[in-house]
Amino acid sequence: MGRGTNLPRVGDFNQRVVLDRIRRADDGVSRVELAASTGLSLQTISNIVSRLLARRLVVEGERRVEGRGKPRTMLHLDPRGAYALGVHVDPVVVTAVLTDLDGEVVSRRALATPAGPDALVAAVADGVRELLADAGVDRADVLGLGVAAPGPIDMPSGRVIHPPLLDGWVDVPLRDALADATGLEVLLEKDVTAAMVAELWRGNRMRQGTSLFFYTGFGVGAAVAHDGEVFAGTSRNAGEIGHLIVDSDGPRCSCGNRGCIGRCAAPDTLVDEAVETGILPASTARSTPAELDAALTEVCRLAAAGRPAAERVLRTSARRVARGITIVADLLDAGVVVFGGPSWARLAPVYVPVVRAELAAHATLREMHPVEVLGSAVGDDVGAVGAASLVLDDAFAPRPSGLVGRTGAVLP
Ligand SMILES: [Zn+2]
Repeated sequence: MGRGTNLPRVGDFNQRVVLDRIRRADDGVSRVELAASTGLSLQTISNIVSRLLARRLVVEGERRVEGRGKPRTMLHLDPRGAYALGVHVDPVVVTAVLTDLDGEVVSRRALATPAGPDALVAAVADGVRELLADAGVDRADVLGLGVAAPGPIDMPSGRVIHPPLLDGWVDVPLRDALADATGLEVLLEKDVTAAMVAELWRGNRMRQGTSLFFYTGFGVGAAVAHDGEVFAGTSRNAGEIGHLIVDSDGPRCSCGNRGCIGRCAAPDTLVDEAVETGILPASTARSTPAELDAALTEVCRLAAAGRPAAERVLRTSARRVARGITIVADLLDAGVVVFGGPSWARLAPVYVPVVRAELAAHATLREMHPVEVLGSAVGDDVGAVGAASLVLDDAFAPRPSGLVGRTGAVLP
């Protein structure tokens, strides 16, 4: 966690440091405590707190007596002092949320993914208007719009390159198109990176040491954080693990190899295996992402209902994924692995025990420390909440420069 500095040119950084301390103090924090913990002078703290109070990002609470001094006024975050919008673009569903400063969802909309980028941009612009109207939130109180999309993404230009299973999406300037359509500042990130930012914003489990987020949807991806900061990579696309080979006899991948982890966890692989083994009828519709998603739900339902053949399909996939997770966890010396994404809630009952057992039996570093396996703290909407968290993180996280490439300043 950053410490403040009294240099006037980074006053904005100091404000973020102070706001971050207030945000993390569950029982409130006084100006004197802030001065002590940040290294800033009491006068600097008082000036910053006055600005935060004026902006309604912070409220004064109870007065508390500590030691023999006079009572100190506790400061608390005002979660409704500002809002962020987040949109998750997935092949099946587009989810949009409005969150408060705590990252809590205030309003939510979801719709079947429109065909083609132009229709999607128009639908998102409508969705933003509806979310604000639903919540009765003034547009002026919205810090910006975060967008989570399948990677890889050309970050400097904000272009989505060639997402899997999104027809007509080739080299789409999504960030600028959405900024034009909504009039909002737009931040674009890979879905898995956005999900990791949401986990970091909401929970403390990954704030120390190295953690891995594994995303399962139509594609798979990973994100890595160390001491609460996301590892970005050279082009800010780190985490493309889809072609990590985890079973040389596994299903054929579009890359020409067999048993890539992305293929082993893909809904179409699981559904195809379920049809081939007679778990699902041969007539099962599976040509569109929505049909595949529905068929995957059915495989998971049959497994949960005790159909051994359905459970076997999921277990095979889980074992392959677990092998890949073990390699990556060892590579990173990770202490926590968090799973999430659109497929996760359905896969979790079979995947979690398999992954835990594999890590406990085969991770090289198991002698050094346990590797915790957890589900997302945010839940099914982790992509959309993650997108909104990009905005919160960019506006408020105390670091000299934000994680994400920016279209402009957010916090005046
Ligand atoms: Zn491959």
